[in-house]
Amino acid sequence: MYLQRQYQPGRKWLARLPFESDLLGEIEKFAAEQNIKVGQVKVIGAVKKAVLGFYDQQSKEYRSLYFNKPLEILHCSGNLSIKDGTPKAHLHIALGSEDGAALGGHLLPGTIVFAGEAVIEELIGPEMVRGYDLQTGLPLWEK
Ligand code: ZN
Repeated sequence: MYLQRQYQPGRKWLARLPFESDLLGEIEKFAAEQNIKVGQVKVIGAVKKAVLGFYDQQSKEYRSLYFNKPLEILHCSGNLSIKDGTPKAHLHIALGSEDGAALGGHLLPGTIVFAGEAVIEELIGPEMVRGYDLQTGLPLWEK
């Protein structure tokens, strides 16, 4: 493991996500408003539709997966760090459909909230900054 850093607990919020807000955008807006540089995020609730990414390791591109139907947010979690000078949320989400089947992936813009309850925890310590990683083609933590 590298880029090992230790953090102390900071502020912690419970917050409700607005009806028809963009899930990813709302979390990033909150992080920017509260000036959260490093943190962790958990969300449960439901969405009206979802856009998820699957990273193609050969082409080094995200394939977008569109689900235009109501789904439960079974689990959504990830972290907050800095990319291009602003707080960036990296979230993965597991969604449940009406027959109870699960699907999931990397959360992309376009996932629209029906109802959502978030737990956001700030971590106090050094900044984590994302930059382009040549091996994977992903914006990974680099400093
Ligand atoms: Zn991801």
